[in-house]
Amino acid sequence: MRMIGLIGGMSFESSAVYYRLINEAVRKQCGGLSSADLVMRSVNFAEIVALQKAGRWDLAEKALGDAAAALERAGADCVLICTNTMHLIADAVAKRVRVPLIHIVDETAAAIKQAGYARPLLLATKYTMEHGFYTDRMRGLGLDPMVPDAADRQMVHDVIFNELCAGEIKDTSRDAFLTVIDKAKAEGADCVILGCTEICLLLDPNALVLPGFDSTTIHCQAAVEFSLSQTALKKSA
Ligand code: GLU
Repeated sequence: MRMIGLIGGMSFESSAVYYRLINEAVRKQCGGLSSADLVMRSVNFAEIVALQKAGRWDLAEKALGDAAAALERAGADCVLICTNTMHLIADAVAKRVRVPLIHIVDETAAAIKQAGYARPLLLATKYTMEHGFYTDRMRGLGLDPMVPDAADRQMVHDVIFNELCAGEIKDTSRDAFLTVIDKAKAEGADCVILGCTEICLLLDPNALVLPGFDSTTIHCQAAVEFSLSQTALKKSA
């Protein structure tokens, strides 16, 4: 089993989900009392949010690059940034390590394409919905993503930071997200990306009017696949 390296804390609500999903998948696949070989570097989210708000992506690159390097020194065989938003600087973080960075956009796009969908609605932070690093990359991978209108983007963003990242789950916010999905369906979306790692705390991706793709689950599955593939190679060698 190869060691998984997680850059977490953004927020710790979703990092806890990563920890649980990865361990559950390893136990399921390896049996018995198996659990994941992993290491997490959990950062102070308040400091990262301050850098996001100030647009200091250069300093965020340094902070998460240092975290990735620490994971590599600790023995990690791969690195995951456990947030969609901070993939804005994923290329710079990847350059700080020799081990692969498992990219949440690539993995999510691959899952959507494999399921035969092409026009996903992206629900995420405003950084993710508006900066282009997510939608442009998806277009490059053959998908045609759409985002909510400006008012709905603000609502989704506010729910993520003011509620989900703070551990608050509200029925009124769930209803508001479902209304956004209904609108997107009427406008031609064929599936939905839960493109923020906390949205799975609010929405069940399998209980929506459109097929749901949860970036957290997909990212965790990719990490486990990577971790266990070496075992399979060693066994067959
Ligand atoms: N975890 C969220 C995401 O997946 C938002 C937190 C952040 O700003 O990193 O985008």
